[in-house]
Amino acid sequence: MARIVMKFGGTSVGDIERINNVAAHVKEEYDAGNEVAVVVSAMSGETNRLVSLCRDISAFHDAREYDVVVSAGEQVSVGLLAMALNKIDVPARSWLGWQFPILTSSVHGSARIQDIVTDALEAQFADGRVAVIAGFQGLSQENRITTLGRGGSDTSAVAVAAALNADRCDIYTDVEGVYTTDPRLVPDARRLKKISYEEMLEMASLGSKVLQTRSVELAMAHKVKLQVRSSFDDPAKKKDVSEDGIAGTMVCSEEEIMEQEIVSGIAYSKDEAKITLRRVADHPGTAAAIFGPLADAAINVDMIVQNISADGGYTDMTFTVPNDDLARAHQLIESMRENIGFSEVESTSGLAKISIVGVGMRSHAGVAQKMFTELADKSINIQVISTSEIKISVLVDADYTELGVRALHAAFNLDGGNEGAG
Ligand code: ADP
Ligand code: ASP
Ligand code: MG
Repeated sequence: MARIVMKFGGTSVGDIERINNVAAHVKEEYDAGNEVAVVVSAMSGETNRLVSLCRDISAFHDAREYDVVVSAGEQVSVGLLAMALNKIDVPARSWLGWQFPILTSSVHGSARIQDIVTDALEAQFADGRVAVIAGFQGLSQENRITTLGRGGSDTSAVAVAAALNADRCDIYTDVEGVYTTDPRLVPDARRLKKISYEEMLEMASLGSKVLQTRSVELAMAHKVKLQVRSSFDDPAKKKDVSEDGIAGTMVCSEEEIMEQEIVSGIAYSKDEAKITLRRVADHPGTAAAIFGPLADAAINVDMIVQNISADGGYTDMTFTVPNDDLARAHQLIESMRENIGFSEVESTSGLAKISIVGVGMRSHAGVAQKMFTELADKSINIQVISTSEIKISVLVDADYTELGVRALHAAFNLDGGNEGAG
């Protein structure tokens, strides 16, 4: 007998037929004698609909009420799944975040889970019942409903798995696992059997939304055995399990991966924008004067470059922010013109960040060179570069995203036909 957390995303519970299919997956594990907790997202499209209702009321709505509204989609899907399970003789009940509770910080819209009270869950298991848990939501110290940021049900699932000391956390989604890049952009992408926590963390934070970044951080910290797999296959057939028992992709520690590629995957994010400040005074405190207020306004600055001008005394400063925050960031910088001291501020939207990720980069030289050459061959201009130990990111015009990702995917030997790596 094992203790298993199963998570199903929006598309997987997108209509009644799919909910019935999810119930069949759960029944399979339950009938095998396992203790099962299920975490579900809202039906696909529902959270987007709720978000736009809030925006239609006001651009400056109360973040606490936003969470009340956008968390509602999960209430529907847990109820429906519990009904579907009961219909096929799996005893189950639904649980909302406040009912355990799942305690979080008070940062509405992107709260962090702090603790999960598991007594009720343990009691469910002791009774032989399946717990169907609403993902994405929690409860703050102030007794208000919170949400964990878009895609947050992944994090709910991993947190529940960690709190319950589960043997496995299976993330069921609408693709068969984690691929070398988004399979919807590159049909030649291939599924990785294994990927390290570190690489998955980079991939997620650089735009691969197959797992929410925070869920990977939590899994890594608590050593949760995490698998990503498809919810669409026939639950009875288990066709996707390879000889080594891995269905989909296993996210695991680096040591568990025998053959390591130099580049394991390519991530991209299209919603990037950049701001350039011309002729900023070059003295201590300038960077703090620019980035402090942006941080206080919760604007996430990503890449930063600074160029010293030839005449000394001045620099040009360029940094990137999410497209959605561009107008706000520009306005804020403009309002601090006196304080910072610069001659001009320019904003550019419609950019994309393309990143190559792989732990093999630590021990191989020439990876950056290869990436830059490949992009140059395709006449793609690189606007900003940033690197870390296991990733290189470039900022390019968003129109070149697909071309760039495909070219790099082929150049680093990731195209299908190389099955077996990872
Ligand atoms: P869910 O609703 O199940 O949480 P998401 O839409 O959040 O599903 O995440 C799954 C999607 O992530 C896939 O449909 C795919 O388009 C996208 N994706 C992006 N990068 C990758 C990748 N490297 N591997 C697999 N899927 C990816
Ligand atoms: N329903 C939420 C969202 O759309 C949470 C999730 O899907 O993980 O962001
Ligand atoms: Mg998701």
